[in-house]
Amino acid sequence: MNESRNKPLSWAVVGGGFAGIRTAMLLAQRGEQVTLIEAAAGLGGLASPWSIDHVEWDRFYHVILLSDRYLRSVLKELRLDDEISWVQTKTGFLASGKLHSLSSSIDFLFFPVLNWLQKFRLGMTIFAGSKIRRWKPLEKILVEDWLRKWSGDSTFEKIWRPLLQSKLGDAYQRTNASFIWAYIQRMYSARRSGLKREMFGYVPGGYRRIIDALGPHLDRLGVNVQTGTLVQSVSRDKDGRFQLGIESKGGKSEEAFDRVVLTTPSSQIASVTAEWTDDERNRLTDTEYLGVICTSLLLDRPLAGYYVTNLLDPGIPFTGIIEMGAILPMDKLNGNYLVYLPRYLMSDDPGFHEPDSEIHTRAIQTLKGIYPGFQSEWIRGIRTARAKSVMALPTLDYSNRRMPVTTSIPGVYCLNSARIVEGTLNVNEVIRMVDEEFESGIWSPHLALRDAKHA
Ligand SMILES: Cc1cc2nc3c(=O)[nH]c(=O)nc-3n(C[C@H](O)[C@H](O)[C@H](O)COP(=O)(O)OP(=O)(O)OC[C@H]3O[C@@H](n4cnc5c(N)ncnc54)[C@H](O)[C@@H]3O)c2cc1C
Repeated sequence: MNESRNKPLSWAVVGGGFAGIRTAMLLAQRGEQVTLIEAAAGLGGLASPWSIDHVEWDRFYHVILLSDRYLRSVLKELRLDDEISWVQTKTGFLASGKLHSLSSSIDFLFFPVLNWLQKFRLGMTIFAGSKIRRWKPLEKILVEDWLRKWSGDSTFEKIWRPLLQSKLGDAYQRTNASFIWAYIQRMYSARRSGLKREMFGYVPGGYRRIIDALGPHLDRLGVNVQTGTLVQSVSRDKDGRFQLGIESKGGKSEEAFDRVVLTTPSSQIASVTAEWTDDERNRLTDTEYLGVICTSLLLDRPLAGYYVTNLLDPGIPFTGIIEMGAILPMDKLNGNYLVYLPRYLMSDDPGFHEPDSEIHTRAIQTLKGIYPGFQSEWIRGIRTARAKSVMALPTLDYSNRRMPVTTSIPGVYCLNSARIVEGTLNVNEVIRMVDEEFESGIWSPHLALRDAKHA
């Protein structure tokens, strides 16, 4: 701890997803007095677990990559890294009603959807994307223009448009090329080298195990964790401290802190205080979020064995099919084969209000249409999760329009995943974002003290 201070500062970290958890860990390791405040009943945010018919696994599908070094260093701290099970995975494509493997160079050569020239250009696109280090110029180009330039119009229509549309809906037309660059970078790093096979991992027990290990760890670090506590407002009192208006089971109350770090979605950050400048408020409210509706199914038998099946055929109401069971052996999940059917859509899409029953009927019809012989009787459990704020849409020049970490209110910091511009959204990137902000010195006790004088 800084010797020039006698007393640690009291910090409120708002949001108990991995951005908040990591921020709380690092502040506490520095000797600060930290309270981590989460609205939901448990920690984890998008990576939190849930149950389907007494079978507990991640609410949304999660895998760890060999190259996820920030996440893995946290797992090392929790003594879980050595337990990760690593599995080679296969990728499938559905085209013209047929499933094709695209998991190796040989598969690529025989992939029937593209001719030789188209394959060459697709390969060049991925190779070029993997080699680019200066990503910023890509922010000025629309992803469609960049992909058409590298892959050609026919490959764009056959491969890229269906993939972009399924992941981003029509918002792909406003998305910049750094989106696909980040995606290629992550997929490339999933392979040991070149076009070799992907290695994905999971901690036995899933994120439930990770969250359970985090509880005592945060406790040892002295972090006060308050779950089931919604932060509604942040205001300054006459002593320059921050009063957080909170709502929990016990009703409404206020709690005072010296510093506040907000890790929640931008729209929530915009609404917590009237003190933002116009520029800050615009940055926060202009951030468009992509959300997801994700149906989990527990089956009594495997499907095709591809971790991801990309759907190129038009009209399928899901983004892809994720066979978690291709990674997670059935005996590790009480004899069940777990499958996710995600559908990404913008956070204001009316689709979020569609009842579960309709989504479930469509999910079953979709599976029947793709896997010959699929029967409803194979389903042991089905449940749908929704999250409206998953990923900030990287529109043109997005990085210059983000909310800065240090705000116009000295002592209030914004550190949510909407800041991520150099990577796809995943737990590793979120932890990396927090670690890098700490390393950059923005959180140094010296600066914290200077803020206090200015408050
Ligand atoms: C379908 C899907 C698949 C994914 N697959 C992977 C994967 O394979 N690998 C991977 O690494 N990552 C994956 N991710 C991404 C990963 O889950 C996220 O990147 C990460 O969990 C984001 O953490 P976060 O803390 O930034 O945000 P969040 O997890 O959204 O956390 C924000 C928290 O703030 C809380 N909150 C909001 N408002 C308030 C308030 N007013 N007061 C108090 N608390 C509040 C929320 O309840 C939430 O817990 C996936 C995500 C999804 C949705």
